[in-house]
Amino acid sequence: MRDYNMNAPIRSLVTLLVLSLSGLFGWAAPAAPSRPNILFIMTDDHAAHAISAYGSQVNQTPQLDRLAREGMRFDRCFAVNSICTPSRATILTGKYSHINGVTVFNRIDGAQPNVAKYLQAAGYYTGLLGKWHLGSDPTGFDKWAVLPGQGAYFDPDFLVPEGRTQIKGYATDIITDLAIDFLKNRPKDKPFFLMCHHKAPHRNWQPDEKHKAMFAGKVIPEPATLRDNYEGRTDALHENKQRVFYDLTRNDLKLEPPTDLTGPARNQWLNVKPTEVEITVLGQKKLLTGEELNAWKYQRYLQDYLACVQSVDDNVGRLLDWLEAAGLRENTIIIYTSDQGFFLGDHGLYDKRFMYEPSIRMPFIVRWPGVIKPGSTTDAITINPDFAPTFLEAAGLPVPVDMQGRSLVSILQGRRPTDWRHSFYYRYYHDPGDHNTRAHYGVRTETHKLIYFWKKDQYELYDLRNDPGEMHNLYSDPAQQGVVAELRAEMLRLKKELKDDDQFADKMPTNGGVDGPFPDKQRIPPRVL
Ligand code: CA
Repeated sequence: MRDYNMNAPIRSLVTLLVLSLSGLFGWAAPAAPSRPNILFIMTDDHAAHAISAYGSQVNQTPQLDRLAREGMRFDRCFAVNSICTPSRATILTGKYSHINGVTVFNRIDGAQPNVAKYLQAAGYYTGLLGKWHLGSDPTGFDKWAVLPGQGAYFDPDFLVPEGRTQIKGYATDIITDLAIDFLKNRPKDKPFFLMCHHKAPHRNWQPDEKHKAMFAGKVIPEPATLRDNYEGRTDALHENKQRVFYDLTRNDLKLEPPTDLTGPARNQWLNVKPTEVEITVLGQKKLLTGEELNAWKYQRYLQDYLACVQSVDDNVGRLLDWLEAAGLRENTIIIYTSDQGFFLGDHGLYDKRFMYEPSIRMPFIVRWPGVIKPGSTTDAITINPDFAPTFLEAAGLPVPVDMQGRSLVSILQGRRPTDWRHSFYYRYYHDPGDHNTRAHYGVRTETHKLIYFWKKDQYELYDLRNDPGEMHNLYSDPAQQGVVAELRAEMLRLKKELKDDDQFADKMPTNGGVDGPFPDKQRIPPRVL
């Protein structure tokens, strides 16, 4: 490893030399690097309501709270298409799915511009480590090592420019190690832009032993809407298949297959959605069914999910400690977010996709010493297309006119522009698709939400002030027809402004899947990346 740190006498000599040359030739010595470093930490499926800084009722996240205490917490940050691959494409390009072409689990066209390319061209040293899930090789990054597809929690393979290699250990620890190595070995004469993307806490929620033990047997409070019976809602909730009580598999619930089962038979056993489960309590076997089984399934799901989150929290702390010890605290913007939210039993669901709050709401916490007032919050409506413009403005670069988001820098400075948005447009396409979630689009304002399931021609309307849990569909209420008309007009206005002309309404993109098998990648020996 190269050591870039000059010792004090040499540094003094260099300073003296620079000052002398400045005097001789009349130019100013370059100031300390003013362009900030940008460290973007993103997890996969980490709901804001599983972060104690956001008021979580189910866990404590001291390291993320530390970031919020020293920075700004965004309370209304939303994904515009709440699934992994589209959200990642939107974050990179600053554009909606129908513009960047990634509406479902299809490969990104890496030839298009992205925020990393702009930053790299402006002199940033750029890196991407961890979950990618966009199918093609990353572009715009000086260094990258990504999980193939979803990747594995234990002893994961990584794709690197030279091939495919395996690293032993637990994914969240490894990705943090890679991030620290990237920072240690970066060229010190350039600012850096690092996207550190964790796999956790994506399904099937496999914690390491240490964090699993922290949650084993712990009783997690149930959300108020766990037993939502979907009364008054459209067909979509009734038809969905991401229900905690009915759709978690034996694999999700970490049930052990009989030892004599192997190969496809073993997988078949693991993929069953069990209607009865035998557990052992204090040495006694007990058969769980019905409501008792439902409650047990919720606990098993949340225990594993939260244990995965706890490892993320520890590792964010480890990365923050390293940065601070390396003297990088002051000039580094640190962002913590997740590619979307997640249902933690809310409306009886796991997963995301739907336009309901737990799914679309992203945690978004930013620390930027000297710019952000510590411990501040904002309720400005912000969206994931805003991230790329924010990075560019922070780096002193112009925001390309074709990016559809808006820079958050003024909000970070505590000055919300008077013309800031009061609504945003959402669209989900993957239908037919996983979990049988029906395609929809809609608008969310500061007070209301209108959702249109276009293949069904059915609507849902929620008053978020009086019904933050989104339990009462007011669409057919005669008293609400004025609100419906206003929201429909706003939805169509945004749809037109964003140039969504329904080009992907009835067809899936043809540019392939994102889950491998990546045959072009030759296996290379395990090594330090
Ligand atoms: Ca995700």
